[in-house]
Amino acid sequence: MPDTPDITIIGAGPCGLGCGRELERLGHHRWSILERSPHAGGLASSVLDPQGFTWDHGGHVVFSHFGEFDRLLEDVMGDQVYSHERSSYIRFDDRWVPYPFQNNLRYLPPEAAYECILGLIEAQGGNEGMDFATWMEATFGGGITYHFMRPYNFKVWATPPERMASHWIAERVSVVDYRRALRSLIFAEDDLAWGPNNTFVFPAEGGTGEIYRRLALQLGDHISYNREIVELDAEARRLRLADGTEESYDILVSTMPIDRLVKTLVHCPERVRAAAEDLEHNSVFMVGVGYETPLKDDKSWMYFPQDHAPFYRATNFAKYSPANVPDGDTGRYSAYMTEVSHSRYKPVPRDGLEEEVENGLRAARVVEGAPPVASATVVDIDYAYPVPTLERDAALAAIQPWLMEHHIYSRGRFGSWRYEIGNMDHAVKMGIDAARLIVEGTPEQLWSM
Ligand SMILES: Cc1cc2nc3c(=O)[nH]c(=O)nc-3n(C[C@H](O)[C@H](O)[C@H](O)COP(=O)(O)OP(=O)(O)OC[C@H]3O[C@@H](n4cnc5c(N)ncnc54)[C@H](O)[C@@H]3O)c2cc1C
Repeated sequence: MPDTPDITIIGAGPCGLGCGRELERLGHHRWSILERSPHAGGLASSVLDPQGFTWDHGGHVVFSHFGEFDRLLEDVMGDQVYSHERSSYIRFDDRWVPYPFQNNLRYLPPEAAYECILGLIEAQGGNEGMDFATWMEATFGGGITYHFMRPYNFKVWATPPERMASHWIAERVSVVDYRRALRSLIFAEDDLAWGPNNTFVFPAEGGTGEIYRRLALQLGDHISYNREIVELDAEARRLRLADGTEESYDILVSTMPIDRLVKTLVHCPERVRAAAEDLEHNSVFMVGVGYETPLKDDKSWMYFPQDHAPFYRATNFAKYSPANVPDGDTGRYSAYMTEVSHSRYKPVPRDGLEEEVENGLRAARVVEGAPPVASATVVDIDYAYPVPTLERDAALAAIQPWLMEHHIYSRGRFGSWRYEIGNMDHAVKMGIDAARLIVEGTPEQLWSM
């Protein structure tokens, strides 16, 4: 290995860009990013539709667990962000229940509230060894599981909860104490502030993708676009690209989905190949509907566990930034960004989806009346959520050590395939940690086996 190894990064999403930026900061300039699409940002990029509405790839809110991410954001965006307090709700029958559902049972119809509180009191308590379905029942009891947890989670994950593990949950699901829930019910107290994203920031212009567009500009010629890796010889340390060219490297940081990375390998043990087959992901249609009606400045985003609508979430996108609608004119336009998951367990036909979503927005009373639709945009996000299945950790334990023995660090949302560290701040931090490990030998702080 040369003193200054040649580092190639696959993918210019948050993880790849975070890695490149850190390499520069450490004074290591022999690196490059190969990105298959014509722009940076990956899943965290944004699109501008022909009518002038900006959309993200599903509801992204920027919040951070890491000082490094805060500094990056400050550096690239300065004060060109809006700060918001979360105002999110769950549609239940004919009403809105403040998020998190399980902390605000007093908003439910009496019968449902009774079932939920009774279930909470009777629940035996979940533990991390349980599958997700068993964990939900054991943690929340029958009422909350039936009315919210089970239908909502199937709508998001498009995967039967019996197939999923529960140890990823930590700060992703609010686990409520029945005493607190009872108190909130009887004393009519609200409990709205749970969770790490109760305040968040959003770029003033260009959607979430603006952060990474600007970051990529700072990194300049190190990034080349429209370059898709299709074959990887880990012994010879050579990559073949879709355009027929080849590249060599000393060390590879890959942020493409790890199952697809394994598929590109020329030589690879059968057990590694088989393990990659065990990994499951869902897909999401982002369906953005722009209306010619003024912004309703109340909710930030809404959840839909029931059958009002095909989507599991709708984001009031003009509220995040006026620049998300044409001419920034929120007196004239509003915009709802919805997410509909799909998988082999939950197939969703693409045809007619815009109309179904629009009907859902009206049925759930997100929009009132029938305002004119100014735009309807659909993006099919093939790899959306890496599903924490029961087989996941064993599969990763077979794949990752083999890759690392071959000087390949697979990191990021789908590179690590770990939903619990699958947000933008995690992805950036994984990229930074990989750079420090390679250049300084500093052990990684976030990713571990
Ligand atoms: C619906 C949804 C909602 C989300 N909400 C939030 C949120 O609220 N807050 C938050 O912080 N995060 C959120 N995220 C997660 C966020 O998008 C990811 O954490 C982040 O984009 C991951 O960055 P990454 O660099 O690891 O991967 P990606 O963003 O997936 O980037 C990987 C890059 O690799 C490129 N690539 C893939 N294959 C190849 C190849 N063969 N050759 C070359 N290049 C290749 C891709 O084009 C892409 O640019 C959400 C994600 C989704 C899907």
